[in-house]
Amino acid sequence: MNFDNKQAQNKFKRLRYDRIIMVAVFFAAIIFIICLIHGAVSKDKKNINETSSQTSTNSTADTTVHTGGRIEFQKIYVSYEEIHKGELILVNNEHEYIFPDDESSQLICLDEIKNDFYKIKDINISMNKLAAKALNSMMSGFFQEKSNKDIMITGAYISKNQQNLMYNQALENSIKITKGGYSEHHTGLAVDMSIYSEKENLKPFSPVGKYEWIKENCTKYGFVRRYPPEKSDITGIKDHFEHFRYVGIPHAYYMTENNLTLEEYIELLKNYTFGNKSLSFSCYSKNYEVYYIKAKSSGGNVDVYVPSTNSYTISGNNVDGFIITVEK
Ligand SMILES: [Zn+2]
Repeated sequence: MNFDNKQAQNKFKRLRYDRIIMVAVFFAAIIFIICLIHGAVSKDKKNINETSSQTSTNSTADTTVHTGGRIEFQKIYVSYEEIHKGELILVNNEHEYIFPDDESSQLICLDEIKNDFYKIKDINISMNKLAAKALNSMMSGFFQEKSNKDIMITGAYISKNQQNLMYNQALENSIKITKGGYSEHHTGLAVDMSIYSEKENLKPFSPVGKYEWIKENCTKYGFVRRYPPEKSDITGIKDHFEHFRYVGIPHAYYMTENNLTLEEYIELLKNYTFGNKSLSFSCYSKNYEVYYIKAKSSGGNVDVYVPSTNSYTISGNNVDGFIITVEK
């Protein structure tokens, strides 16, 4: 009897241990499942974070750099002499303008194409065709906004001989002006403005009152104020505030937004070399990539990479290479 009782007691103890082990295993399984679920959720969260950071990295890249990626390029050969042509050529006391053989084909008499929203001082004033078209648009825009037709163009293209004549006359009067070959007016891309009204006759352009509109809006038409008074130490030109220069819309926008003279902009673009990085920015609902290709030697052809399908422009910088502007 005692023996039977002991056996029954042992059986009862075994059953209790089995239950304890089962309960422990059950809770361990629950904990394991909870851990699994938690792990999966954490992983999802990490993926979401990684996706967001990827997106923000991409958007940063879009606003700054990288040539290549999504645009296909092809190599073309451009004559070295072309570095002296284009809307971004830098002409100043250090960089002489090289007159092209086909100069006359690039110029047009303003009198032939001008609209009625401005005046010209002389019917023989001529200008680069592209810049003249942009000037017409700007003057039309000015009239729409300010109902004013008093802007008078007093100068645009100037030949080397004309500039030298002016230079010599100025010297006789102890006035220093730019020598022939080094004036931006040789390019046909620059224009001098005055204000003419019957009441006040001719007076110098000043960007105040209604004329402030021109200063504020010229970039939309591809023009910049080339010689801002606060940058005369960089441009070398003082007191020539009536002078506007055509550089093309995206460049005018970028230069103005970043307060850069053409000297500074040309230097900045040398950091954006093809194959490494390009200057990417948006303006007036369009996206642009701009990059620079150095022309390695004088004479012969230069390898220039341009997009296969996107529209683009090439301009020399009149210093040492080309600037390619791609519309994306
Ligand atoms: Zn001028």
